[in-house]
Amino acid sequence: TEELHIVGGGMAGSEAAWQAAHMGVRVVLHEMRPQVGTFAHQTGLLGEMVCSNSFRSDDDEQNAVGLLHWEMRQANGLIMQTADRHRLPAGGALAVDRDPFAQSVTDALVAHPNIRVAYGEITELPATGQWIIATGPLTSGALGQAIAAKTGAEALAFFDAIAPIVYFDSIDMSKAWMQSRYDKGDTEEERTAYLNCPMNKEQYEAFIDALLAADKTEFHEGETAGYFDGCLPIEVMAERGRETLRFGPMKPVGLTNPHAPDNKPYAVVQLRRDNKLGTLYNIVGFQTKMKYGAQTDVFKRIPGLENASFARLGGIHRNTFLNAPTLLDGQMRLKSQPNIRFAGQITGVEGYVESASMGLLAGRLAASDILGRSLTTPPATTATGALITHISGGAEAKTFQPMNVNFGLFPPVEGLKGGRRGRKDRYKAYTDRAKADWQSWLGHGALDAA
Ligand code: FAD
Repeated sequence: TEELHIVGGGMAGSEAAWQAAHMGVRVVLHEMRPQVGTFAHQTGLLGEMVCSNSFRSDDDEQNAVGLLHWEMRQANGLIMQTADRHRLPAGGALAVDRDPFAQSVTDALVAHPNIRVAYGEITELPATGQWIIATGPLTSGALGQAIAAKTGAEALAFFDAIAPIVYFDSIDMSKAWMQSRYDKGDTEEERTAYLNCPMNKEQYEAFIDALLAADKTEFHEGETAGYFDGCLPIEVMAERGRETLRFGPMKPVGLTNPHAPDNKPYAVVQLRRDNKLGTLYNIVGFQTKMKYGAQTDVFKRIPGLENASFARLGGIHRNTFLNAPTLLDGQMRLKSQPNIRFAGQITGVEGYVESASMGLLAGRLAASDILGRSLTTPPATTATGALITHISGGAEAKTFQPMNVNFGLFPPVEGLKGGRRGRKDRYKAYTDRAKADWQSWLGHGALDAA
């Protein structure tokens, strides 16, 4: 049978290689380190964690990332089983001893009879053969150029500028309202595209003070702080002048507050629907380098967001990623060249766990293709399925930014209480449903493979 080539031996590529090899497919895993480095990686090991040593929450009943852990463990995931072996005490989080972890991932892959590790940089997108590109947020320059040439420059980003994302059901709609500026849009979808939070002068001034005083993170060394027009962090905008935001993303024009029609807002924070389900809204233009704790403090000052829960907080990073909703099909293949799959952070997911999970899926899908078996993608009710569904079409393509796994990506469970009070029951219902559906998907995959 044909070999599977995987480029990048990080979280996604390592997991993809493991999964495909276990299905009986021969794998060549191409890794450029140690010959060619990145600004963040320190070693030549496969599965290196570039920053924190945490795989985040391990709670598989109340947390979507914990559920992803569970799904990967059920699927013989290399990253999870190795993490479990090198676990450090960290409360409810799964933290690991990073060097022994990466060494064990490397040893397992090198020792596998179906895997050959080929060290060296890949600089072109191959025209033939079965390939998975899992080169991550720090994809080498040459390969990045080759991908951009294939996808079109607009479809490949080299930075992310992530605005915070809020769960719709945590927004106080007695203060906020839905309206597009100048009432643009005729369809229901267009009318619910924007949500507005009004501020009076006093609230605006206090908000600017809080922004200016907030704790910020610096760019990593080697990660150039080249801000582009249209994606300046809000705190940098505020530093340029106290009125800058009021004439920028917080301009109050073209909007009428139905809760106080005679009272023109001094400034308006707009949120834009972030997924087709309408469960998530992002705060427009609010990309930021504020620390996470500072972000929640500052954003809860916005009228209507006092009790907001955040599906993800904002950030700006060096990050190579595709506009997956336009470029990839549901099987993670490049629509314009289906012999190439993408996996990991380059597909527009964010985080070690999410990247590994997209590697797990790509490895299984590619191996199935090579073996001439069909494998469907898991349903959106599972954590893995929710992620792949989001990036391959559930997300709004025009404003696509990387996403971490969260319950806002799951189709709602019917008949459960909304709001904060019902949350615990709701999350348990999501994870129960996910586990059953994941088991049945795995069973189905095994049947296919039999
Ligand atoms: P990676 O793990 O980066 O793996 C990609 C691999 O491809 C690398 O080994 C690289 O050397 C190799 N490669 C690149 N180009 C080529 C090429 N042309 N030829 C051959 N090999 C190539 N996530 C978290 O969950 N927690 C964090 O604390 C965190 N901190 C981060 C800090 C920084 C500075 C960055 C950049 C990212 C951080 N992330 C963090 C995101 C993290 O990178 C991803 O979550 C995860 O590592 C991505 O997995 P991946 O497999 O897609 O990419």
